[in-house]
Amino acid sequence: MSVYTDLVCTQCDVRLWLGKTIHDGHQPIYYHRGSAEDPPNWAIGELNAVLWKMLADHARHPLKVIVEGDSDYNPDSDATELGGVSDLDVSFTDYLRDWPGRSPGADNR
Ligand SMILES: [Zn+2]
Repeated sequence: MSVYTDLVCTQCDVRLWLGKTIHDGHQPIYYHRGSAEDPPNWAIGELNAVLWKMLADHARHPLKVIVEGDSDYNPDSDATELGGVSDLDVSFTDYLRDWPGRSPGADNR
């Protein structure tokens, strides 16, 4: 049985599904979205950009990596899911639209 993990801003109720939890007993080793043939999460540029934008957007907020089975894991919550498909969610494309962090050389800060 697969165990899933979310990165959640518990202040804003925004979450990013990290995928299947690959673990060694109790401790996660890494997370994987998609099938075994899909690239590792770190190699998916759009996902990587979403993660970095989330870290910027939620600076100083309580970010928590919540593993399925933890008491606060709730995939059915009304949290806004980045990359989710419900009306409450935001697609990766919309989330990253006009984000200057995608090509920082272009804005020379
Ligand atoms: Zn936040």
